[in-house]
Amino acid sequence: MRMRIGVYAVALASLLGLGACTTNPTTGRSQFNALSVQEEVAIGTQGKPEMIREYGGEVARADLRQYVAEVGMRLVETTAADDPALLELPWEFTLLNSDVVNAFALPGGKVFMSRGLAQMMTNEAQLAGVLGHEIGHVTARHVNDRYARQMGAQLGVGLLGVLLGGTAGGGDLANIAGNVAQISLVSYDRSQEIESDALGMRYMARAGYNPAGQKQVMQILAGLAKDQQRNDIMSTHPHPEERIEVIERALQTEYASTQGNAEFILGEDRFRQRFLSKLTLAYPDAGASRLARSRDELGPIGACSFVYGHAIGYGCTCKTCGH
Ligand SMILES: [Zn+2]
Repeated sequence: MRMRIGVYAVALASLLGLGACTTNPTTGRSQFNALSVQEEVAIGTQGKPEMIREYGGEVARADLRQYVAEVGMRLVETTAADDPALLELPWEFTLLNSDVVNAFALPGGKVFMSRGLAQMMTNEAQLAGVLGHEIGHVTARHVNDRYARQMGAQLGVGLLGVLLGGTAGGGDLANIAGNVAQISLVSYDRSQEIESDALGMRYMARAGYNPAGQKQVMQILAGLAKDQQRNDIMSTHPHPEERIEVIERALQTEYASTQGNAEFILGEDRFRQRFLSKLTLAYPDAGASRLARSRDELGPIGACSFVYGHAIGYGCTCKTCGH
């Protein structure tokens, strides 16, 4: 039944001139364009300041922000091999000054990573893994797909109403428009996560990073998931165990030639010298990540340092004290 409603909805949406299907050169998948690229860019550009506010601003040091942007842009340059038009997106990489462990992207090229996540990493390939994954959500246009699905469902309900002789939900379309920013921040589904991991590894290898960094970062997150009942990155990026398996398979097959190959770097020294040492110096009391990393040293989490909430951070609640 669901499928049929979807089919009707897409047909109706096409009739209304809301979009058309095109093949995404990055993924090779045919996509219903619920959002135009211009709309995606507008959503990202308008949403960026709000995201920065929600997460307590950017990390103050320009050199640290610049380092993240540099790694991000190195990956972005490799997206052109699939689709040169991707270079025209207004890409921006924002290092949020937040202990929350999270990374996310808005459509149209705005990528965000929290300081809390950055401080859990040990090399540049892991950073490239996170940024590459988020770039993948943008290039695969996952928000568009989610939006199309939601729009399809809403239109389907309206159309079903017509078919059943009821009233069509004429106001629904207008309502959906207001929800796009939120759709982009709720949990991606399993297939989208796995596709973004794969795209991240593709960009990493092209840029000369060891794609094993993607597996390492996933292991860090899986360890965190065990420790914490819930945290932001698990609410926006679920299924770490399954993702690790898929990444491992790719490392043994598609990327076998990159393993034990000095051309594909992890970049430990560079990451420590240019980024992590300075970040740790600037934020010595960074709560969640330090606690998670130094569990044995510091004992169990006893401080009100780890916040979690739903994806955009409204109503954050401390796991320990409930505030
Ligand atoms: Zn993701």
